[in-house]
Amino acid sequence: MTRTRIKAGAASPRDRKEHTPASEVAALVATVMSDLGDVFASMDWADDEIEQASRRHPDQADALYHAFSLVQPRDIGTGTGAEFVYRSHVRELLQRIATGADTRIPTAAEMCLVCTQTSLKVPLHGAAAGLYFRLWLQAFPDHPITPSQATEQVHYERLHSTQIDEYEAMLRRKATDPHRLLAGIDCAGRHHGRNVTCRYAANTASRRDDRQAPAA
Ligand SMILES: [Zn+2]
Repeated sequence: MTRTRIKAGAASPRDRKEHTPASEVAALVATVMSDLGDVFASMDWADDEIEQASRRHPDQADALYHAFSLVQPRDIGTGTGAEFVYRSHVRELLQRIATGADTRIPTAAEMCLVCTQTSLKVPLHGAAAGLYFRLWLQAFPDHPITPSQATEQVHYERLHSTQIDEYEAMLRRKATDPHRLLAGIDCAGRHHGRNVTCRYAANTASRRDDRQAPAA
């Protein structure tokens, strides 16, 4: 399994309509992002999220069990190692697996991290800042950048919603990972050392039979 150690950093979304001075927002984001746990704890966070998702969707527990490698963070940069960021990413992907939705498109947390990276290079204004804040609220509703962020977002949406929609669609397209699929899984029919009924065990057995079948 790949684990990525990433340094924390600051982002600086700015907009003329923003109520909070840009420097203050940048400092607050830096504080939030520097609140890193041990990145290697991400294994435990993923396991914990898988366990919770399996309780919510017991009929999908076998697929969720095998989702561990799929939910590993991509190297998008700043913040991936923060617990609330990583958990949001994992939770969204597990929900998609449980409901049969597309796992290739980026999670809100991933798109938010792209915005963070972008904001480190160029200041974000108008619709770009609005997109950043929209994605942040979507990915981390329990961790607003400022107490008034939700209220401020109303202003961004009123002024720039169409362009924010366009930016979001573009970002979703560009950040899609065509290989992030739950496929080619081998399972010996045992999870956590216990015999289980798993859809992938049947597939694995059938692939093995195919390989062992004599050539025609
Ligand atoms: Zn299995």
